[in-house]
Amino acid sequence: MEKFSSFVFVFLGPPGAGKGLLASRLSDRKGMPHISTGNLLREECRKDSPLGREVKELIEKGHLVSDECILKVLQERLRREDCRHGCILDGFPRTAWQAVLLDNLVDSERQIPIEVTLDDKVIEERLSGRRLCPSCSAGYHVTYAPPRKANICDHCSTPLILRKDDAPEIVRERLRIFREQYAPLIDHYRSGERKPASVSSLASPDECFADLLFKIESRIPLSI
Ligand code: AMP
Repeated sequence: MEKFSSFVFVFLGPPGAGKGLLASRLSDRKGMPHISTGNLLREECRKDSPLGREVKELIEKGHLVSDECILKVLQERLRREDCRHGCILDGFPRTAWQAVLLDNLVDSERQIPIEVTLDDKVIEERLSGRRLCPSCSAGYHVTYAPPRKANICDHCSTPLILRKDDAPEIVRERLRIFREQYAPLIDHYRSGERKPASVSSLASPDECFADLLFKIESRIPLSI
């Protein structure tokens, strides 16, 4: 694939820290697509495609799928027309090696890394309230980002679901894997030229988003 020439916001941080919510608000603000590798994979599972069948069990157990599978869905998505003026990545990279793979697709000067932080205890509590639209992949939280009508997607009126991998024992496994992989991943970015902006998602979504905008405005070219 030819190198991607637009800017890419790269969200890093533990599962359940609120990356999806912040990425989706940034997507509305910047008019750039929000690309969640988790959503792309869940979509493959829903379509029951060969790739979906290959990854379904791994996702349900909270394990990482192979780099080959992830790259396949990601590259296909980046080729789409709506990414022409940039995009927002959420859920990739998850390992230092995936960061190297991303550098092969997008020059590191074109990546704007954002680290979202949250304490494990709060993550476990928050994930139990997370809801997902199985049809359009919009994410909600019963307390922090509720839909207008209880348990119904604002965008497509589909009843919301609780993800299987948000069950407490799977969340603990996902956090364990995250911790194993994160130090070398974040080091990759901290040792690069463009240091990650760090945002805590402990405050309300509005406050966190305001903090995110404040921190990234100074790091990005005026054109984006
Ligand atoms: P997420 O929605 O980001 O929590 O991702 C859900 C699941 O999709 C993960 O637990 C993994 O099984 C898989 N997945 C998503 N992104 C990646 C990735 N970059 N590398 C490997 N597996 C991934």
